[in-house]
Amino acid sequence: EAARARYRERNPASERQLAEAATVMPGGNTRSVLFHAPFPLTMVRGEGARLWDADGHRYLDALGEFTAGLYGHSNAVIRQAIIDALADGLSLSSHNRREVALAAEIQRRFPSMALMRFTNSGTEASLLALATAKAFTARPKIMVFDGAYHGGLLSFGRGGSPINVPHAYVVAPYNDLAAAQALVHAHGPTLAAIVVEPMLGAGGCIPGEPAFLRGLSELARGCGALLVFDEVQTSRLSIGGRQAQLGITPDLTVIGKYFGGGLSFGAFGGRVDCMAQFDPRRANALSHAGTFNNNVLSMAAGLAGLQQVLTQEALTALNQRGDRLRERLNAVLQTHGVAAQFTGLGSVMNLHGMSGPVHCAADLATSNTLLKELLFFDLLERGVYMAQRGLVTLSLPFDDAACDEMLGAFEDALRTRAA
Ligand code: PLP
Repeated sequence: EAARARYRERNPASERQLAEAATVMPGGNTRSVLFHAPFPLTMVRGEGARLWDADGHRYLDALGEFTAGLYGHSNAVIRQAIIDALADGLSLSSHNRREVALAAEIQRRFPSMALMRFTNSGTEASLLALATAKAFTARPKIMVFDGAYHGGLLSFGRGGSPINVPHAYVVAPYNDLAAAQALVHAHGPTLAAIVVEPMLGAGGCIPGEPAFLRGLSELARGCGALLVFDEVQTSRLSIGGRQAQLGITPDLTVIGKYFGGGLSFGAFGGRVDCMAQFDPRRANALSHAGTFNNNVLSMAAGLAGLQQVLTQEALTALNQRGDRLRERLNAVLQTHGVAAQFTGLGSVMNLHGMSGPVHCAADLATSNTLLKELLFFDLLERGVYMAQRGLVTLSLPFDDAACDEMLGAFEDALRTRAA
């Protein structure tokens, strides 16, 4: 309560902003993930790895727009690409040259996406990938994993309670191949797809074990279902995503987030025979419309980012920086005897209020959420902005000095709490 009271005192403009928003949006909110009590901050400006809020506080941006902010704020190359694109007009009511170039760049990095289609979000892309698998296999069900998040309409909370899932599904525990096998045994002939995040993202940055992910690939092949990798978050772990790191070729892949250079974007793609269902030259082709699927600004920003900013070296260095930061944060927690840990891979990590192994959503049942909330407020006071649920993602401008700064703030918060 004391932490919340101090927060309220420090942020009157953000509180006013939410009150005003609440007159036109439910609870002042249009992105559920952003809400936390007593009210979330309103940011007014970003530059590099820095943010400024409505009350004039400056923060290190350790949230990185939930992985979509890979390029940081106001990258000069991407900004120029957007300005150049503006000069040619925005809505051309037609195909444009940039969409082809962006698809080709994506395919070069993700060869499994032999043919692909664009959407406006990762949510849409996941929904469409699963619908595509259902049409291709003429089967009705999808296998998903407990704790998975494939977008606002495909969310599987702890205990497998789904929210608004527009597909028939069966839910398996994550990282448990035997349980997945048993479900395939029971439902195999009705399964259109097994859809999996190679690391549970919103579910707490729980990496999929390589043997588990390889096993799913075999299970899918064995029962005639498609393997769908949702790499919306893990696509940033290497130039070719986690599938390249593990040498697994999924039938379909879903991406989004940074591929739009910071603008709205999603894509799904994969096997030629499956994706060719959308070829409009075919009789009975599947239809997938969308006014802004190829919108000029997302195409231009995404393309500039991939072609000019996101080199292999830059991405490798970013993920190594993330690995180092996670190790150092965990070492600090251990030194202070706090039962908490960061899990994750590379530049994406999540704080949990517990020690001990974390393999699946159920392992998080004992996580101390109050501890996480306190650390969240403590870090805000020390100028570090992360997600209250514990997510930290690094952007390219989040350099070694930023990591040191975050570590210093974290250590100071723990020391102050202990005193
Ligand atoms: N899939 C995963 C793994 C995600 O993390 C997200 C978003 O966080 C999505 C899909 C949905 O993407 P979007 O927010 O662009 O709809």
